[in-house]
Amino acid sequence: MHHDETSRPLTLGEGRISAYLSIGLGALAILAVLCFRFPDWLTTPDLRAAYDLAVLRVLLALGMGAAVFFGLLTFALGRCRRLGSLGLGLTAVALALGGAGVEVGPRADAPVFLGLDWMVLDLLASALALGAIEKLAPRRADQPILRPDFWHDARYFAFNHLGIGLSLFIGAALVPGLFSWTINEGVQGWFRGLPGVVQFLIILVMADVMEYALHRAMHEIPALWRIHAVHHSVEHMDWLAGSRLHLAEPLATRALVLLPGFVLGAEGAPLLAYITFAATQAGLNHANLGLKLGWVEKLLVTPRFHHWHHASDSVAVDTNYAAHLPLIDWVFRTHHMPKDGSWPAAYGVIGKKLPKGIVRQFLYPFVPRWWPKKA
Ligand SMILES: [Zn+2]
Ligand SMILES: [Zn+2]
Repeated sequence: MHHDETSRPLTLGEGRISAYLSIGLGALAILAVLCFRFPDWLTTPDLRAAYDLAVLRVLLALGMGAAVFFGLLTFALGRCRRLGSLGLGLTAVALALGGAGVEVGPRADAPVFLGLDWMVLDLLASALALGAIEKLAPRRADQPILRPDFWHDARYFAFNHLGIGLSLFIGAALVPGLFSWTINEGVQGWFRGLPGVVQFLIILVMADVMEYALHRAMHEIPALWRIHAVHHSVEHMDWLAGSRLHLAEPLATRALVLLPGFVLGAEGAPLLAYITFAATQAGLNHANLGLKLGWVEKLLVTPRFHHWHHASDSVAVDTNYAAHLPLIDWVFRTHHMPKDGSWPAAYGVIGKKLPKGIVRQFLYPFVPRWWPKKA
């Protein structure tokens, strides 16, 4: 794929937007039909319980209709007909697999699942909601949606969402076995007797103290830094950039960040509220958002706070580790938020750049000749 071609700003009337919409919707339709056919293998159990199948079928039919419309539009415009045909072809495949009337597949009791539905839902929510507010209040107005490395990060988005089943599986298999000795019924009974809001705040603070420790360790221990450096190779911040994580990082951190909640016996609404809050904040923190948030910046981690964490300015290196509460960095003297409200000039790891490509970046921590020489 030619980067200069795909990174060009999208302009109306040249057919490229229609073609991408048609391809995107056609591909989503195939994934949705597969989710209907193989629910146990491809969907997330907690989400599956909440679905209304009749509504999903209507959405699928509308999506396929829109994919056909945008595919045909490229022909009407007489531009990008090749890409438009691809969108029409993908929609035809979705139809051949059963379309909106596809029957729900049998129960398979799959041990591990691919979070296809989670990937699709989070993609739609992030792309639409975060994409829209990025347009309303951009940090860099001149940064196109399809900026350099967009497709690279899109692949990370797909892999890390599909892998959620694996990390939940590892977490569910390892954590209770390794940490069951920490469970104290007195402590858990006390915790569950607290008001929901207080439970949420305790989970938030303890998860962020854990996040701070893990994150700082990843910056200070060379073997761990080589894994985390993948995340710091991001040079263009937006809603998608935060997805660039070495596979080992979410596998290790997700389970450990939730460990304090496990010990306390967190469950139900307070735990769900924390997970939703954490996911939303993570998306916002990397977004291309230039909001001026005033006092909120003192209370919560904001885009400017986490953008400084990604800065290549030497004053900001190894600062702002917290994911939720800047107070933790302030306590440990790693807090960096210029009072003048300024933003970093550039992002990315200093010195030698990482190898390109998701496979090489996966191997990077294990291949010493790719590491930068000691200064
Ligand atoms: Zn970091
Ligand atoms: Zn980040």
